Amino acid sequence: CGIVAYVGPKDAAPILLEGLQRLEYRGYDSAGVVVSSKGLKVRKVKGRVADLAKAVPARFKGTLGIGHTRWATHGVPSDENAHPHLSADERIAVVHNGIIENATELRAKLEADGVVFKSETDTETLAHMIARTVEETSSLEEAVRKALKSVVGTYGIAVIDAERPGEVVVARNGSPIVLGIGEKEMFAASDVAALVRYTRQVVHLEDGELAVLKADGFHTFASGGLETAKEPLTVDVEA
Ligand code: GLU
Repeated sequence: CGIVAYVGPKDAAPILLEGLQRLEYRGYDSAGVVVSSKGLKVRKVKGRVADLAKAVPARFKGTLGIGHTRWATHGVPSDENAHPHLSADERIAVVHNGIIENATELRAKLEADGVVFKSETDTETLAHMIARTVEETSSLEEAVRKALKSVVGTYGIAVIDAERPGEVVVARNGSPIVLGIGEKEMFAASDVAALVRYTRQVVHLEDGELAVLKADGFHTFASGGLETAKEPLTVDVEA
């Protein structure tokens, strides 16, 4: 339902929680965040963003992270089914809006290969697939792009890799993703409402596009892997 991502010099968790609060008006049944610093730290709960904020400890440090509010389509609203979803080795974390239509088939293949699922969601298949492609690719962007080739359905996603603590990869197909450009910090969200407190400079992804966000800027790519050129727009809305 709602996605927020941050990479920069600041603590990510308060920014992610604030962004998720701004997306509450869209409706949701659970919420979660993951931040990265020497491994991934995750909190996710069935309920409100305020409940999630209470579950996040004061020492939840990490200057990169992703957050989600969920509107359940595959699996009941529960702590386990809330996003983010992690790969078995806890290296990859994913948040996802939309529906993976071939999730049953993808899950069956992964389970046949010995992958043990922790949730009932369609989204968890993405975490396991990216964990596999990341082993055989030289960038997180390429790993996400390769994994998405097997996916039928709609998605806006944000992905982080514990072994690359300086970047977030986002992608869209039928579910919006907008990048927010800050001063030595980058944001992304499913809705510009989550970004306007921090920046007015935005870039909308097109269906099929991916983006790599780092503190010092961003790069966008077409589904075939070629870099695309995007001009930032200035949004004019009440913060
Ligand atoms: N299909 C995913 C799920 O059920 C994402 C739902 C959403 O867009 O929030 O977990």
